[in-house]
Amino acid sequence: MTTIQGKNFIGYTLSSEGEKHFKAYAPATDSYLPETFHCATTGEVDQTMALAEKAFDSYSQVPAAGRAAFLIAITEEIMALGDDLLERASQETGLPIARLQGERTRTINQLTQFAELLREGSWVEASIDTALPDRTPVPKPDIRKMLVPVGPVIVFGSSNFPLAYSVAGVDSGPALAAGNPVVVKAHPAHPGVSDLTAQAVVRAAQRTGMPEGTFSMLYDDGFEVGTALVKHPASKAVGFTGSYKGGMALYRLAQEREEPIPVFAEMGSVNPIIVLPQYLKNNAAQLGKTLAVSVSLGAGQFCTNPGLVFITNTEGLETFQNAYKAEIMNTPSATMLTAGICKNYNKLRGETLEQPEVSSLAISTVHSEGENQAEASIALVSGQNFIANPKLHEEVFGPFSLLVVCEDTNELQEAVAHLKGQLTATLIAEEAEVTAYPGIVRQLAKISGRFIMNGVPTGVEVCPSIHHGGPFPATADAKFTSVGRHSILRFVRPQSFQNWPDALLPDELKNGNPLGIFRLVDNVQTRESVR
Ligand code: NAP
Repeated sequence: MTTIQGKNFIGYTLSSEGEKHFKAYAPATDSYLPETFHCATTGEVDQTMALAEKAFDSYSQVPAAGRAAFLIAITEEIMALGDDLLERASQETGLPIARLQGERTRTINQLTQFAELLREGSWVEASIDTALPDRTPVPKPDIRKMLVPVGPVIVFGSSNFPLAYSVAGVDSGPALAAGNPVVVKAHPAHPGVSDLTAQAVVRAAQRTGMPEGTFSMLYDDGFEVGTALVKHPASKAVGFTGSYKGGMALYRLAQEREEPIPVFAEMGSVNPIIVLPQYLKNNAAQLGKTLAVSVSLGAGQFCTNPGLVFITNTEGLETFQNAYKAEIMNTPSATMLTAGICKNYNKLRGETLEQPEVSSLAISTVHSEGENQAEASIALVSGQNFIANPKLHEEVFGPFSLLVVCEDTNELQEAVAHLKGQLTATLIAEEAEVTAYPGIVRQLAKISGRFIMNGVPTGVEVCPSIHHGGPFPATADAKFTSVGRHSILRFVRPQSFQNWPDALLPDELKNGNPLGIFRLVDNVQTRESVR
């Protein structure tokens, strides 16, 4: 049994200087758990960042194989926590054990994939242009380029994934893989899980000989510590998942610094689903059931939850609505992650239902045990009323979705034109309809990071081709993903080396490196390796 310590992790040292502290909340029982978590002081923030800055010099020089061994050691230490980790996560989030088992597997797989990426090596995008001393009128120098780590990365874990998007999740994994020290601001909604995971990371770092300061974690149940970390001159990048308000506050802070730094903030998304008439006619009942399951999965607390469904008032609508309603009414209510998120869900859902011409279509009638329960719920509005009311375009975080019934596909296209950037957009259509409605398809392609056909947006496959990002305001930077191997690009920068002797170059850029991909021969760029 691993004991929760409740102290800040300043590298390998535990620290609890401040007087401010808080307790973990158990949403299902509406009660507080016994341990005390110490909020970091300004002095502890400075100490942590000084250590991270110092660690960068040595950690960034640890060979890729060493960093890979560190990531694998983290997976072993997380698994060694056994059921303690899952039980604590369930207490602090209200999420069922089975869901958390899946999330732990995902966390382990993510870290393992980064270890494999490091061993394979191509992620640094080594580019080698050898010299052409005899070129006229000017000789060409030897220039080689690769991606290098940026420096200490500040990680804000999300409330809805206490493992996969938290202390050793989608931000920390790639940041550490690239050679950056990581400083986590623990999410106050799961501080005990964060503590256990941080212990696992620290044990792995010590076991594999990583410099002290490669990883630190600080607590706070307010904004001071997060703000101080983002403003600290030693911080070089930020990874965040959470609300639009929180993400934008941190983004602005980072841009107002004397040295602005990149912030990858994954924020709100309503993940629209667009149903075209022929598909509706052919699959109405099945579609209703499928969408209801996606809307209510995990109490709707997924960034990919489908908050808007656009459909036409054509054949199949009634059958679809009946199936959709029946499934939602039979969905049991579920405990939400925090009392605040539950309160916010009921408030925003209530405000949506109070908007002119919006009516409730169905609400869950099956009540589960426990506090902070969210009832799955769907509402109805016409295309014209949706277009006229920007309030209806906003996310309601939880098991809620608004069905927008458009008179025809022209109105549907007009409604879709009002959507902002999204993590996902889903087109439900027969193949022939894709070419028949190019305007709708183009608009959805423009606003989405992942464009799905005939599926649901919930369920993110962790693989190299996944893009989990999207145009603003879904994220602060549409160029990047927070999931998959390319997520490492958030925490690196390119650097060129000109005329450096081979022996002094990083290994990845030395002559003979089979991954050096470009070579200029007679002014023609080739993709040969320099051997
Ligand atoms: P949040 O309020 O955005 O908080 C996320 C993290 O950022 C917390 O550690 C929080 O610290 C910190 N933070 C927030 N605002 C800050 C500010 N102005 N300055 C410094 N730090 C700040 O998100 P949440 O508590 O996890 O959930 C609230 C809402 O976020 C949900 O209702 C939902 O709308 C959204 N959400 C979205 C996603 C997604 O995947 N897009 C996931 C989860 C939640 P403190 O908590 O200590 O204040």
